[in-house]
Amino acid sequence: MKSYNIALIKGDGIGPEIIDEAVKVLNAVALVENFEVEYHEYLMGGSAYDVTKDPLPDATIKGALSSDAILFGAIGGEKWDNLPRDKRPESGLLRFRQALGVYANLRPTIVYDELIDASTIKSEVVKGVDIMVVRELIGGIYFGEPKGRDDNRGYNTMVYTRQEIERIAHQAFKIAMTRDKRVCSVDKANVLDVSALWREVVTKIAKQYPQVTLTHMYIDNAAMQLIRDPKQFDVIVTGNLFGDILSDEASMICGSIGLLPSASIGAKIGLYEPIHGSAPDIAGKGIANPIAAIASVSMMLRYALNEQVAANKIDEAIKYVLKEGYRTKDLADFGAKQICSTNEIGSIIANYIATCKH
Ligand code: NAD
Repeated sequence: MKSYNIALIKGDGIGPEIIDEAVKVLNAVALVENFEVEYHEYLMGGSAYDVTKDPLPDATIKGALSSDAILFGAIGGEKWDNLPRDKRPESGLLRFRQALGVYANLRPTIVYDELIDASTIKSEVVKGVDIMVVRELIGGIYFGEPKGRDDNRGYNTMVYTRQEIERIAHQAFKIAMTRDKRVCSVDKANVLDVSALWREVVTKIAKQYPQVTLTHMYIDNAAMQLIRDPKQFDVIVTGNLFGDILSDEASMICGSIGLLPSASIGAKIGLYEPIHGSAPDIAGKGIANPIAAIASVSMMLRYALNEQVAANKIDEAIKYVLKEGYRTKDLADFGAKQICSTNEIGSIIANYIATCKH
């Protein structure tokens, strides 16, 4: 029987609550799809700092690197906000992504019909939206040299090499091949030399994927088009800074932060996590929405473990929960027939998978 070694990093705040439900669902789907999962738990964030005085202990990096994939909750909280920058939970996460070498961040935005009213945008505009933002994660202006500041001047450098653009473009085209086969590359090629290179390289890589239609858009226009007519997009590929902004904008089209997963891939081992943070305001109350974490398991099965059927089963079970009106408190105003706890939503999804006939 196939067996997978999963590194679990629950983190802080609601992290442990939602990851427990994600594990429940992964165990349920493993049973029906005949594979085994072995879990190894590691510390990160504030909870790691409390024990080791380091938000990213070496043992976590080592353990994660020897796994097949990493399932991550969330980190951070007020308790650790006043620590020096390099001791803060968030700096641990940035270092972690770099240590793994995950250069492609995938963020799907799906608008479920049942939750269409949760969006602040008109329902006819968002109905049927299904976008994948592919953001370059470990290059660009957040990492470029030189950077620095003195009293009167601050500067950063947006730099991309041909090789960095090629590899993210390949990821985007490969993903588009499994979807609607459209890629929109977003840049600022009318102003920035780095974007001119980006556009040239993406156009060249596109020739290897003749079934995929490539378009280009300037970032300012893309930010506008995403709100005006989000359905025009299938896959959006862009650099680190533009992707940071666009992926948050895209996620808000669906209206709820508790539903959206993400994957950071490209290296040998990928990181799968909900897009939301540790939500300290609701931690420990049993009301967090576990669906983003459960959907992250689906992405892990799809992109890391090549268990497509298992991933589809989770996606289907999530749709079932939303269709039947089971809601955590954050979605109480949108078609709720029954308000459920974090634990109950996890169990309903796991049971659906366990008893589903197809
Ligand atoms: P947040 O995403 O944690 O919370 C924003 C709001 O959304 C809160 O009202 C919260 O209750 C709600 N929310 C978030 N997830 C939810 C869920 N699953 N179910 C129901 N409601 C949910 O963002 P924030 O409040 O800005 O940040 C809190 C902490 O999380 C900070 O320390 C921040 O640095 C950290 N953070 C971590 C990550 C990460 O681990 N990847 C990402 C973003 C923020």
